[in-house]
Amino acid sequence: MFNPACDVASLYIHWPFCPYKCHFCPFVALASHDEYMEQYHAALTKEIRLYGEYAQKRPIETIFFGGGTPSTYPSDLLLDTFGILNSTFELAENCEITLEVNPGTVTPEKIEAWTKAGITRLSIGVQSLNNQVLTSLNRHQKAADVLELIDAAAPRFEVLSIDLILGLPGISQQEWEELIQQVVTWPIKHLSVYFLTVHEDTPLYYGVARKKINLPTDDAMVTTYEWTACMLERHGFMQYEVSNFAKVGYESRHNSVYWKRLPYKGFGMGACSFDGNSRFQSEKNLMSYLNSVESANSMQDLTKLSIVAETLTENQVWIEQLMLGLRQKNGLAWDSVYKKLSHSELMTFEAKIAEFIHLGYVSDNKIRFWLTTAGRAVENEIVVALLQ
Ligand code: SF4
Repeated sequence: MFNPACDVASLYIHWPFCPYKCHFCPFVALASHDEYMEQYHAALTKEIRLYGEYAQKRPIETIFFGGGTPSTYPSDLLLDTFGILNSTFELAENCEITLEVNPGTVTPEKIEAWTKAGITRLSIGVQSLNNQVLTSLNRHQKAADVLELIDAAAPRFEVLSIDLILGLPGISQQEWEELIQQVVTWPIKHLSVYFLTVHEDTPLYYGVARKKINLPTDDAMVTTYEWTACMLERHGFMQYEVSNFAKVGYESRHNSVYWKRLPYKGFGMGACSFDGNSRFQSEKNLMSYLNSVESANSMQDLTKLSIVAETLTENQVWIEQLMLGLRQKNGLAWDSVYKKLSHSELMTFEAKIAEFIHLGYVSDNKIRFWLTTAGRAVENEIVVALLQ
């Protein structure tokens, strides 16, 4: 069971409803289920209250509303959630509160409500400005929606962040470069650039398998990624993680909690939690989630919600430390490696790092080692090689 005495300062709240299901989506997301929004909201807030009765009270530093599409959360219900969060927890004065937003789902009335609620960051799913490509992937948003949203939101929120997907089918190198040249002129403080990943059992997966969709080659993606990192840095967006770039001081504090392996508590279907020793994931089926929460009377009852409850072994902790450490700009301290590996394992590890330094993928100052931009483009492969 999630340890309620652990030092949680970060909350994740999952809103699974989406206006459509994108063909590349691997998330716990539901299109055409809007009639369940109110019932889900009632379950979600009950889960928060039950947890609050047992949790250690300490100021909450970050809250992240993810999805799904949290910008479809009806404003009156969202404000009700904030009322419950405020009465259940003490929110730190400078609490970072992020809401994921899909262009095309925003109204002036929602922006008003989000400001009133105290949301500090909007994380906007831009992905691309090519309407045709997005529509072909069943993502029904228009470039005009993005521009309108940026204009309306910029004066109201401390930080605007955008997500882009690198490697979408049908986007040429030139079009990508024009997109980057355009977004660096926007009033944004943070950017996430994700490689398109083909997840099994998605329409994109079947399109690629049947050769109806052609993706760029790995080499082309790596070249584009390196160009992008360089271009963003030139415009003041410093890379602090494999996929994340920010103006100085505007890094995502919430995501840093994940990367630093600090505890966090998730609420809602499919939400993940970590108490410092064990990882949990809640029920991913809507009806099972609703039934479990509706019949719960205590935090103990909520343990039935977990479909994953795993206490990490020492080896799993090491794998996480290596993977998450290498994703970050500062990489890993050699000290943490010395503590984990036996003498012979260390010799092999050092030899592999020396080879990666030779190839230009890793830098090292004898105290820490970290990935170069070229290394970040192939981070997965490097981690796999180091763990073998
Ligand atoms: S909007 Fe996001 S969560 Fe919803 S279907 Fe598309 S990718 Fe998935």
